[in-house]
Amino acid sequence: MTIPLVDLKIQYQSIKEEIDDAIQRVIDNTAFIMGKEVVEFEAAFADYCGARYAIGVSSGTGALFLTLLGYGIGLGDEVITTPFTFFATGEAISQVGARPVFVDVDPLTYNIDPAKITAAITPHTKAIMPVHLYGQPADMDAINAIAREHNLVVIEDAAQAHGSFYNGTRAGVLGDAACFSFYPSKNLGCYGDGGIVVTNDEHLTERVRSLRDHGRSSKYEHAELGYGHRLDGMQAAILGVKLQHLDAWNESRRQRAARYSDLLADTPVITPQHLPQTTPVYHCYVIRTPERERVLEQLRAAGIGAGVHYPIPLHLQPAYQHLELEAGSFPVSETLAAEVISLPIYAELSDEQQDFVVEHIQKTLDA
Ligand SMILES: *Cc1c(COP(=O)(O)O)cnc(C)c1O
Repeated sequence: MTIPLVDLKIQYQSIKEEIDDAIQRVIDNTAFIMGKEVVEFEAAFADYCGARYAIGVSSGTGALFLTLLGYGIGLGDEVITTPFTFFATGEAISQVGARPVFVDVDPLTYNIDPAKITAAITPHTKAIMPVHLYGQPADMDAINAIAREHNLVVIEDAAQAHGSFYNGTRAGVLGDAACFSFYPSKNLGCYGDGGIVVTNDEHLTERVRSLRDHGRSSKYEHAELGYGHRLDGMQAAILGVKLQHLDAWNESRRQRAARYSDLLADTPVITPQHLPQTTPVYHCYVIRTPERERVLEQLRAAGIGAGVHYPIPLHLQPAYQHLELEAGSFPVSETLAAEVISLPIYAELSDEQQDFVVEHIQKTLDA
């Protein structure tokens, strides 16, 4: 038995007809860039999140980059975020010329620790960018309270959290703006690169619409310098189909996650915890063990596609050496980076596959 970390093929097979029809429709209409499919998907995704606006862009990284630019954040500014995330979170902040200021994560949720944010605020701070890691919303009430007090913008990195809730509200409208990725393996993924910015802010919406499409004010007139960061019609059509299945897929992921946690309850590994006010969507199902390397080796030898999200926290990445943040700066993130393992999770994962994964973890830890 081989079990991939994610299985995009089995998902495609379950919706093949709908997807093939959508792709054919785009080809028939030759609406390859922007156009009707993009406009319709933007409306559907905004509605899904309970937001007024959604602006389709070329990737999750593009969404973060354009949102920061749209808020006028740049050289000399600071943005507070977590070091325990995918590299793009920090990269987007750096790409607009601002400085990422890292704040360690909470040892229970692995999300940015609100209790440590205030100490990181300086006169240069413009925004807080929490990441809803593995699909669990960060503690947004606490983060928003700090942001209000210090007049900061809150930008959700919701790239892993499509459909998750905090206090009954969807990720996407938990701050001033939210950035989603549609990278193929995300909970809502397209068949290439894609992303979207979600917001209730009309001004930001206009800024991102302009910046994603070369600062265009009409077909041949450009009011400003922008970027080529558009969402294409094919991806939008595919996403429109998949959005209708997202809640069911997320519910299945939650059931799979609960089953893993039950099966692992008698082992020494630490299973995921979440705040009671959150409904996570388990983009990743992540366990922790100091025996990480041994367990990983065994799982991989057994044909199980276990992953590590993420082995190097951002402040220790070679690209961030210039920040001069040494090992030991963010101890919780550093411990997690050494101990986490992502187990295979997707809506179609079977009981037998899960049992097989858990068996191999038990076998390694008993040895
Ligand atoms: C995937 C991801 C991104 C980047 O999205 P892309 O579409 O790959 O550019 C940003 N932040 C987080 C937390 C992600 O998981």
